[in-house]
Amino acid sequence: MSVAFHTPSFLKAKSSRPERRVYPLWRLVPYIKRYPLMVGLSLLAILMAALATLLLPFAVRLVIDEGLGGQDGAVIDSYFLVLLGIAALLGVGAALRFYCSYWLGERLVADLKKDVFQKLMSLSASFFDQSHSGELMSHLATDSTILTTALRSHLSQALRNVMVFFGGLVMMLVSSPSLSLMVILAIPVVVLPLVFFGRAVRRLSSEAQEGMARLHQYGAEMLLNVRAVQAFTAEKTVVATFDEEAERSVGLGMDRSRARAFLTAIAIFLVMASIVGILWYGARDVLSGDMSAGALVQFMLYAVFAGGAMAGLSEVWGEIAQAAGAAERLSGFLDETSEVRAPLNAPVLEGALKGEIAFEGVSFTYPARDQTVVLEDVSFALKAGERVAIVGPSGAGKSTLFHLLLRFYDPDQGRITLDGQALDGFNLADVRRSFAVVPQEPTLFAMSILENIAFVNPSAREDEVIAAAQAAQADEFIRGFQEGYHTLVGEGGMQLSGGQRQRIALARALLVDAPILLLDEATSALDASSEEKVQQALETIMEKRTSLVIAHRLSTVKNADRILVMSQGRIVEDGTHEDLLALEGVYAELARTQLLSDAS
Ligand code: ATP
Repeated sequence: MSVAFHTPSFLKAKSSRPERRVYPLWRLVPYIKRYPLMVGLSLLAILMAALATLLLPFAVRLVIDEGLGGQDGAVIDSYFLVLLGIAALLGVGAALRFYCSYWLGERLVADLKKDVFQKLMSLSASFFDQSHSGELMSHLATDSTILTTALRSHLSQALRNVMVFFGGLVMMLVSSPSLSLMVILAIPVVVLPLVFFGRAVRRLSSEAQEGMARLHQYGAEMLLNVRAVQAFTAEKTVVATFDEEAERSVGLGMDRSRARAFLTAIAIFLVMASIVGILWYGARDVLSGDMSAGALVQFMLYAVFAGGAMAGLSEVWGEIAQAAGAAERLSGFLDETSEVRAPLNAPVLEGALKGEIAFEGVSFTYPARDQTVVLEDVSFALKAGERVAIVGPSGAGKSTLFHLLLRFYDPDQGRITLDGQALDGFNLADVRRSFAVVPQEPTLFAMSILENIAFVNPSAREDEVIAAAQAAQADEFIRGFQEGYHTLVGEGGMQLSGGQRQRIALARALLVDAPILLLDEATSALDASSEEKVQQALETIMEKRTSLVIAHRLSTVKNADRILVMSQGRIVEDGTHEDLLALEGVYAELARTQLLSDAS
């Protein structure tokens, strides 16, 4: 069984073909520009190392031809001193290059990662509907590692190699034009096979990378939901699938290593064979007296350095292209735009809203499933302070009303207003701050209870958090834990019961002073006595606020000022409990078939 995942289009388009382009690295320029001193030092260090390398053959020729030939001890000493100086220059250059590149690599990738994370936090729900968060995390993790490694070492190695290669070529031409001509003739023989096999290696590399991302994504999802896996006794299947993906991933990695080993062998052989051939030709010039022994050694050293630089370049080129791909994917996140955007000139809201809501002919289809109309021509209005219940069969579109109110999505047709003003004319944060939400499945974080409640209002004092918890009937069970409010709740709040999680979510809603309350079956996981207590707390907060309550319990529904009945994306009935029973329609049917159960 293989695992099929959905990949966001901009990741898929770029990761499914081998990476050979390096120009996406330009996307890093705005980040590089922030650190001119370090970039300058880095370039200086690379230049120093390249110059020292290029000076070495020159000095060696002097030692051979003039020092050794002249038999003058003092001259030899001075030439060796120069060699020593060059060695020191090489050492200092290398150390400086290492330090600056390491610094830049860490710094730039951290800056980019911070921007990407900030961007992801701002993207609309439709982006996340269509991407897999495990895969996004895996891309973030692997791509930033690839990029850090490249910036730390590969990029500076490549730059040094480019300098040594061109510097070496120039020096070869200066030392011996005829031997240089032979080298130029040998270049295509060396380069063409490398280019050809290099492509295959890059293709295999990106396949191996994708395989690894799939494996991590599958593992992360199953670990996160390990209880469900165990409850369904699906461990064997999950482990088998993981094993299969792991083996596939290893296989891809092995293919890549084999191709890479082959490429290295070809590279070394071709370069060395060319050197040997040229040395043989040059040796004949020395024998015939056309060239000094020192000049031949100098030429050969330049040829070795230039050839070595080129081989080194071909080796790191793949890594750099991979890093360019990583930079492109990471910065691709930055290009994503949120489908829900507040107008740039939206005035900042002054004072609180009264809390009037109106839906006017709203139709909506989720972007991820564009064949199914979820809301069709929905119109209703809530006066400030009114308490309205929404009932309807599962999938009728009740929670979707909340998603639109919170502007996770915008309607395809019609408009929604708050205090008579179109929702999309407000600042996005102002809209969301106007609602206190208790969702169907509260989201708790792996933090303490105190931090979880205060998540909605980090500036709240501890006594305010406790007051909210008391009002939500949560204080008693919280104090029952040994560590009280500082008890950690585990990932997703899994160390708490469903009812406890709901009361924490209620406490959160009480801690935000919002004019409108949105409750999505907020008390469904409570037992009858807790529900009664929570219900009392809710009564108090509902008094001052407009409330829209998705309810499955008759007790909640009866207390509402009005009931909206939804069916297949439409509001089909609207009235009080008695009105609707008398209608003998969908509501009466729901009440009769116990879809609305009475807890009291
Ligand atoms: P329930 O009582 O079961 O919570 P509901 O009335 O609240 O149901 P909604 O959650 O609003 O129903 O869902 C309405 C329809 O929209 C369903 O058919 C559902 O499959 C679909 N839907 C919900 N969320 C999404 C989404 N993010 N992407 C695509 N379709 C969705």
